[in-house]
Amino acid sequence: MSNDSGRVKRLSLRALGQIVAEANAAKDLDEMLRVMVERIHQAMGVDVCSIYLADAQSGRHTLSATVGLRKEAVGQLVLGPQEGLIGLVASQMQPLNIGDCSHHPRFKYIPLVGEEDFNAFLGVPIIFQGTLLGVLVLQHRQSRRFTEEDVSFAVTLATQLASHIAFAKLTKTVVAPPAEENEGQWLDGIAAAPGIGIGTAVVLYQLTEMHTIPDRVVTDTEAEKAAFMRAVSAVARDLRELAESHDGQPPQQRELLGAYSMILTSNELVDATLATIDKGTWAPAALRSAVEELAHRFDVMEDPYLCERGRDIRDLGRRVMDRLMEIAGGDVAYPQETILVGEDLSPIDLIKVPTDRLRGAISERGSAFSHLAIVARTLGIPAVTALGDLPLMQLDRREIIADGYRGRLYVNPNVTVRKEFRRLAREEQELNDFLKEFRDKQAITPDGEHVAMLVNAGLAEDLPIALNAGAEGVGLYRTELLFMTQDRFPTEDQQVVLYRRVLQAFHPRPVTFRTLDIGGDKPLPYFPIYESNPFLGWRGIRISLDHPEIFETQLRALLRASEGFANAKLLIPMVSGVAELYQALTHLDKVYEELQAEGRQLDKPAVGAMIEVPSAVYQAELFARHVDFLSIGTNDLTQYLLAVDRDNERVAKLFDALHPAVLQAMFHVIRCGEQRQKPVTICGEVAGDPAAALLLLGMGARNLSVNAGEIPKIKWVITKFSRTRAQQLLHRALDMESPAAIREMLRNELEAAGFGALVRPGK
Ligand code: PEP
Ligand code: MG
Repeated sequence: MSNDSGRVKRLSLRALGQIVAEANAAKDLDEMLRVMVERIHQAMGVDVCSIYLADAQSGRHTLSATVGLRKEAVGQLVLGPQEGLIGLVASQMQPLNIGDCSHHPRFKYIPLVGEEDFNAFLGVPIIFQGTLLGVLVLQHRQSRRFTEEDVSFAVTLATQLASHIAFAKLTKTVVAPPAEENEGQWLDGIAAAPGIGIGTAVVLYQLTEMHTIPDRVVTDTEAEKAAFMRAVSAVARDLRELAESHDGQPPQQRELLGAYSMILTSNELVDATLATIDKGTWAPAALRSAVEELAHRFDVMEDPYLCERGRDIRDLGRRVMDRLMEIAGGDVAYPQETILVGEDLSPIDLIKVPTDRLRGAISERGSAFSHLAIVARTLGIPAVTALGDLPLMQLDRREIIADGYRGRLYVNPNVTVRKEFRRLAREEQELNDFLKEFRDKQAITPDGEHVAMLVNAGLAEDLPIALNAGAEGVGLYRTELLFMTQDRFPTEDQQVVLYRRVLQAFHPRPVTFRTLDIGGDKPLPYFPIYESNPFLGWRGIRISLDHPEIFETQLRALLRASEGFANAKLLIPMVSGVAELYQALTHLDKVYEELQAEGRQLDKPAVGAMIEVPSAVYQAELFARHVDFLSIGTNDLTQYLLAVDRDNERVAKLFDALHPAVLQAMFHVIRCGEQRQKPVTICGEVAGDPAAALLLLGMGARNLSVNAGEIPKIKWVITKFSRTRAQQLLHRALDMESPAAIREMLRNELEAAGFGALVRPGK
């Protein structure tokens, strides 16, 4: 489209939204880019709109879509990383706005593209999470710079399009068949639990989130179609019944139900779904694509009334999906070597998979300190999280590899990659076999210091694992995990049974039960909490103190369970001030007296306070006067000291318990414990990190509570490093400025001492 004035059209936010929505509906990357340039060209009225994509490995830029330049150049024009104006935009990662580009020193004339008629040039980098994906270019004939408004609009557009381009690029990688030359293709995430897992991806989807439903191939299409039609009839019946029950209700409601029935009976949705099933797709995915296609046609309509219909279609689609899943039964068939994949996997998702089949976990969300990661470590399986938006639909049932050391996911690995990982997995198995000999040994340093190795536990399913881990007791029993697997608050008697089972299994070894620590990232399905800042909100002891009926029931159950065993200890989570401690202890006293009055023979258990909030660090000495022991929860302490959400993948790189500030805090608390002669346990994830364990040893830590799978590794390290050597390392670390420098120093130390296999894959 030629534009005589040389001015581009002013576009509304709505127009921007429509461009993004249309691009997003494209089937693949090439179609997406084509739609983008066409729509931008048309909406802005520029003479040329092009997108150059950057190649992550070579840094070269390929003209990938254009309106206005020669079509034959698409895919053919490849510029070097620094070449021409595109190279300049890319290297500076800044917009470039020039009135007459042919006079610019970096202009490069390329006859192939036919841009000699266009003078004004606006190039804007397309950046996603700090990485350059490509350059969006607008050009027009007039020799006049684009206006500031045009630039800001193009920048806004590029930021909005970036995530969609990133996702489409990723999908292209994922669906690409394995190729020998693709040796290095992987997706980067966060190493959440170490290990190598090779297996088949099983994508967990949520019914409420249609876009997570994966593609799956079926052979019995007739059965799929029958199930789908039963679901449609069931929804039609639901709608009829609803309409009848709304007789005499406001006309809008009847209208809405009428609109739903019409969509359902119009057959467009039904026919499209059946046609896709006929091609061999299972019913849920066929329904998902039919709903998306139909809804999208309404989304892009100008008329706001019609635009709203897209929402109705999605809602209706969800209702049919619910019915469909009811009919299908929702049971997942887990392959022999399953790697569980999901948008935001929970610890409960993991334990639903039979342990002998589970080889790894991949989650789009979450960090190395989320509870998913913690449970993966307990189960001894690798986990990779924070992969961003994965093309989940296409991942289901593909062969994948989870590299839990480097935080990588390989999809459809080729023969070479698979062979290499099989070797690494074998070596890992050999290491685990070697480490077994430490199971029954105590952790004693060469200079005679004993460190009590305790285990973190909390799931009924991991009790045998914890029991056989070679621990001297349970340093942290997360009782909330028991609560999370129920559908209501467990009664006092039910809790007694659960706690007694643990006490009995470990007897006479101590078990430290932490009282209910919900809120934050640990919601109970039957006790929803909606807050904009959950980690700074109602969680841990705050909830318990506000709900004495729940707290005292738990305390009574814990005391009753320990009757006759005398190996229970109690731990109070998330204490931020001494007043909370007093209140919690007052409840305990009350419950204790009540139980005694009932004639029970009870020992009062030792009580500890968790140090996981900065205020508690500064009051550690005071806390130590009032309790029997302290326990440092480094996961939350790191989160609060560094102001880094432990579950947020965007900031996960900043979350490091080896940060000098966290080290100082831990050292301070350990000294406070020594001063008051109260034991201090470290029970956060850091204690299970062999590098960090060296520093904790140097600080004088005598009790480490770690996940079951980590006990032998830490024991091995402790038996080889003297306390004196650990102190030297600690003092070097405390002089350093960044967690990265500290980590490198410790890695080198471990590598030099022959422990490299603990911090990377392979021997
Ligand atoms: C911690 O915060 O370090 C801790 C051990 O508790 P959780 O991970 O359960 O919050
Ligand atoms: Mg915590």
